[in-house]
Amino acid sequence: MLRITEFKLPLDHADDELRPALLQRLAIGSDELLDFTLFKRSYDARKKSTELQFIYTVDFQVRDEAALLQRLSHDKHIGPAPDVSYKMVGHAPAELNQRPLVVGFGPCGIFAGLLLAQMGFKPIILERGTEVRQRTKDTWGLWRKNVLNPESNVQFGEGGAGTFSDGKLYSQIKDPKFIGRKVLHEFVKAGAPEEILYVSKPHIGTFRLTGVVENMRHQIEALGGEVRFQQRVTDVLIEDGQMQGVVLDSGERIDSRHVILALGHSARDTFRMLHGRGVFMEAKPFSVGFRIEHPQGLIDRARLGKYAGHPKLGAADYKLVHHAKNGRSVYSFCMCPGGTVVAATSEPNRVVTNGMSQYSRNERNANSGIVVGITPEQDYPGSPLAGIELQERLESHAYLMGGETYEAPAQLVGDFIAGKASTALGTVEPSYKPGVKLTDLADALPAFAIEAIREALPAFEKQIRGFSQHDAILTGIETRTSSPLRITRGEDLQSLNVKGLFPAGEGAGYAGGILSAGVDGIRIAEALARDILGIAG
Ligand SMILES: Cc1cc2nc3c(=O)[nH]c(=O)nc-3n(C[C@H](O)[C@H](O)[C@H](O)COP(=O)(O)OP(=O)(O)OC[C@H]3O[C@@H](n4cnc5c(N)ncnc54)[C@H](O)[C@@H]3O)c2cc1C
Repeated sequence: MLRITEFKLPLDHADDELRPALLQRLAIGSDELLDFTLFKRSYDARKKSTELQFIYTVDFQVRDEAALLQRLSHDKHIGPAPDVSYKMVGHAPAELNQRPLVVGFGPCGIFAGLLLAQMGFKPIILERGTEVRQRTKDTWGLWRKNVLNPESNVQFGEGGAGTFSDGKLYSQIKDPKFIGRKVLHEFVKAGAPEEILYVSKPHIGTFRLTGVVENMRHQIEALGGEVRFQQRVTDVLIEDGQMQGVVLDSGERIDSRHVILALGHSARDTFRMLHGRGVFMEAKPFSVGFRIEHPQGLIDRARLGKYAGHPKLGAADYKLVHHAKNGRSVYSFCMCPGGTVVAATSEPNRVVTNGMSQYSRNERNANSGIVVGITPEQDYPGSPLAGIELQERLESHAYLMGGETYEAPAQLVGDFIAGKASTALGTVEPSYKPGVKLTDLADALPAFAIEAIREALPAFEKQIRGFSQHDAILTGIETRTSSPLRITRGEDLQSLNVKGLFPAGEGAGYAGGILSAGVDGIRIAEALARDILGIAG
């Protein structure tokens, strides 16, 4: 297999123009080219002076690779394609003494469970929430009728936190073994659009994600795994520093010396239980802020200029950072083009926001978190659980500010910068359901965070014209940007002080998004398999 990079075609090229263009670029006849697949497609919207082009990386097979490589040896964009195929670490023995447990069926638990099942370990997966169809109804219960189900919601249930999301599938993690490709291939096998394998910023969108996670569950079950819903783990059994099993809220005990914890960042009760049992953990930095909404057209025009609205480019995104004078960094988080702001609490009487989009990304507004980094050293010293306590305080206060109905407190950007309460909306209609209450957000976050965001919004105007327009909307609050703690693991990816306990994914502090949680799920399944099979890492 060979690879060509920096292969450029006009934005408006038809799909069937790719093959002849490739033949021409390689200067070969049609019968020479046996096959080709797109590996990557990107474009550079920063160069507004030149015509926008798609830039492809294409893997291809020709009849005589050696001859072609020799003829084009001067061409630095053509060479052998690296092997990015996934290789399993081993296979379970025919007789399994005990089945490994996976706690949590979000992206991390799904991929850990899938990998263990593919290796023949027949995992038992325990998920506190409901299967995805029931969960969808429960989640809409909060959005439409102000009714929260604390065990089945945006955070908890089949598919985990990312199920009702934009389904962005990119990450900046180091991935020398190309495990991210394995994650994307498995998503496609389960029904995700094939383009996620090559577009530079792939996303799936909420409706498609629900079907994808259901199909992945069926695959795990077909391989001998078991996925149990409404099974909350309430205790862990540890003897002499060795994991022995877990206890469920029903009182049932399940024995296993190998347990993967893929809890997500919202399992506060479970974190407290683990801390009480002496599992080593430490507080870690996270971020707090608001969601901001603008008309998507404003973002498209700022980012894509004359190409705004081009069907092949879709709704534009952005990524912004500002270093404030008070030493804090403000940045855009989880930007959702053409999406909506959603109520994302899993606990009664709390308000927390996040964002989601459908695959089409065709809602009126763009939204993102505008958040400020905070650290245990500066902002919540002491216990490893202090970050959770801070989140809880802020989310409870936001609930009060919203009128104690799960409506969210909100303010126009102009009023926020001027420091006065908003009393009427402008042209930007907030998308948050069940609704917003206009107020002054000044005491929704610590003073340093308010100060930093007030400084950042006008600064972002320099990069995106209209970003700090008076009637853009801020909705509060964003607190669950990542886990406030880390369940630290050693080189063998096991807990520092409990053998057989494998903390993983976002909740353990080792991932920050769907793709990285999936990659960590695979890595943790590999570590568990190595431990059972006695293979060195
Ligand atoms: C609204 C929203 C939009 C998002 N959008 C994106 C996006 O576009 N792109 C992106 O990359 N990321 C996005 N994220 C973040 C992403 O969803 C998470 O990073 C990812 O889901 C983390 O995966 P995880 O498997 O580690 O944890 P989770 O997905 O949180 O899964 C943990 C699972 O564990 C279960 N659980 C917890 N405690 C217990 C227990 N005691 N017993 C049994 N089960 C338990 C929970 O019910 C949950 O299902 C979004 C998140 C939200 C909330």
